[in-house]
Amino acid sequence: MVLNIAMDGPVGAGKSSIADAVANALGILHLDTGAMYRAIGLTALRRGVDLADEQAVTELARQIRVSVAHGGDGQRTLVDGEDVTALIRTAEVSMAASTVGKYQGVRREMVALQQRLAATTPMLVDGRDICLRVLPDAPVKIYLTASAEERARRRWLEMQQKGDTTPYETVLADLKARDAQDMNREIDPLRPTEDAVIVDSTELSFGEVVEKIIGIVKEKYHE
Ligand code: C5P
Repeated sequence: MVLNIAMDGPVGAGKSSIADAVANALGILHLDTGAMYRAIGLTALRRGVDLADEQAVTELARQIRVSVAHGGDGQRTLVDGEDVTALIRTAEVSMAASTVGKYQGVRREMVALQQRLAATTPMLVDGRDICLRVLPDAPVKIYLTASAEERARRRWLEMQQKGDTTPYETVLADLKARDAQDMNREIDPLRPTEDAVIVDSTELSFGEVVEKIIGIVKEKYHE
C-alpha cells in the first residue's frame, strides 16, 4: 500500500511548513492542495471571471489544467503549463481560493486530481477536506490547529519579515473571515474527522510539532 498521510487544519496553523518538514523526514512528497485552489482563484481573477458566479468558475476549473511538480525547492504549481507558484500567495488570491473552494464542481475536479496523484505516490497531503474526502482511508490522519490569535500572530510576523506592514488586527480579521468561509461552507466544511488526531500547536515550537507528528506516524505503523 502507498504511504499516505492526511493533514487538515485552518489558515495559518503552519500546515505547509510542518508538512514539508514531516514529509522530508519520512522521505515522501508533500502535496499542498491549497495551492491548487489558489491556482484556480488566481486564474479567475486574471481572466475577470466573477467569483460569485458558480457556473462560470466551475466551467473555468474544468477548462484549465492545474498540475504540480516536485523538485528540490518543493512544490511548483502550474496552470496550463505556466508556473504560477510565485503569484498565488497574496491576500487577494487567498480569499479567492476560499471562494472558489465553495463550489461542488471545482471540488470534484480537485479531489479527483489529488486522489490520482496520491494513489501512485507516497505523499503527505495537506488541505481542508483530506481526511474526510480525498483520503478517507489514509492510515494516519492529523488535524493541525492553534488559536486564531496565535495563527494570526505567526502570519503577521512572517509578513513583517517580508517588509509587509499590514497591521496585526487586519491579519487576524482576514484569517477569521477565511476560517468562517471554510468552516461554514455547505460542501465538505473544514472540521476534524472522528478518526483524526488533533494536534494543537498553540503552545508548541515548530520542532515540537514536527516531532509529535512523526511520533504519531511511527506509532500507527507499529500497530
Ligand atoms: O491551505 P491554503 O490556505 O493555501 O488554502 C487556500 C484555500 O483553499 C483555503 O482557504 C480553502 O478554502 C481552500 N482549500 C480547500 N480544500 C483544500 C485545500 C484548500 O477548500 N483541500
